[in-house]
Amino acid sequence: MPLAAVMTAPHKPIEVQNLPAAKVEPGGILLETIFSEVCGTDVHLHRGHLAGVPYPIIPGHVSVGRVVETGGAVTDIEGRLITVGSVATFLDVHETCGNCWYCLVAKASTRCPHRKVYGITYSANDGLLGGWSEQIYLKPKVKTILLPPSVPPERLIAAGCGLPTAIHAIERAAITLGDIVAVQGSGPVGLNVAILARLSGAGGVIVIGDPPNRLAAAKGFGADEVISVAGTSPAGRVERVKALTGGRGADITIEATGVPAAVKEGMQMTRDGGRYVIVGQYTDVGDVSINPHTEINKKHLEIRGCWGSDFSHFYRMVNVLARHGDRVGWEKMISREYALGEMNTALADVAAGRVVKAVVKPHCRLLGRSIRRLG
Ligand SMILES: [Zn+2]
Ligand SMILES: [Zn+2]
Repeated sequence: MPLAAVMTAPHKPIEVQNLPAAKVEPGGILLETIFSEVCGTDVHLHRGHLAGVPYPIIPGHVSVGRVVETGGAVTDIEGRLITVGSVATFLDVHETCGNCWYCLVAKASTRCPHRKVYGITYSANDGLLGGWSEQIYLKPKVKTILLPPSVPPERLIAAGCGLPTAIHAIERAAITLGDIVAVQGSGPVGLNVAILARLSGAGGVIVIGDPPNRLAAAKGFGADEVISVAGTSPAGRVERVKALTGGRGADITIEATGVPAAVKEGMQMTRDGGRYVIVGQYTDVGDVSINPHTEINKKHLEIRGCWGSDFSHFYRMVNVLARHGDRVGWEKMISREYALGEMNTALADVAAGRVVKAVVKPHCRLLGRSIRRLG
């Protein structure tokens, strides 16, 4: 009977429960969880911000584990056999149909209405389908990746869901070598966007965020300039970005804040003819007024939304970690590891921004270890 941390309903304390063991179907995989993560999405889930969530759920959408059982011969995307004892991760999105208008015509599978997400849209009543659990059951056809030996599980989970989301945002941003990139937000998505902007050849990276521990992390990961939100006004931040860019504004701005007002500001801090990518408005927290003349039309601004990530981004994440992992050291992002019994604290810490990255170590029977490295 594996233990799992269950979110029974919004605003209710997380409960550690004994859940029935998984029955592995042909093509399925059972993982013993090494790490899962706690991110802003889990805070949204706990506050009831997302529609259609089948509580009770086992949160934890990006996870890494050791294979303990497979339903017959199962292979990864490269055709390699997934054997007992190997370390694997998987795309949290499952059941993307490949048959609907979005999948086939728009080629935007992240908008497929049939998609299900581990840790978010599967109920705990349906099985061990989230990472805050000692074991995770991967249903047949869950897209699984064997971790290369050069990518330690700790590094993978530190990158977590923030890195594939950032890879998608960077793809949408289409950075040209030498571009000055402004990043609004210094949470895991913003930090990963800043890291990837540098790897993409940005001529300069400006991170606008808070609190100080996250801005210190941004600096540590190579941001050229950081701007504290607390210490500045919206107009002051726009002026600061303009002052850093010859009075013009950033060539590309990427929003990763979740605050609607940041969108207006982001449009203003982008140069005429520049590009603005919005990835942080994951939940609906209201409207914001814009001036279509000065902020879009006359500015000749290109605005692109970016929703979720698909397998291509997840696959690229593992390659990016294998190629650049030693240089970037993503694991420095981990502020603290939490045991299953500490998930209420973990959610509170993430909500307050006290941690840069919070990870769950379900087999840690004692209290998680605090390993502040950055910020
Ligand atoms: Zn579909
Ligand atoms: Zn997440």
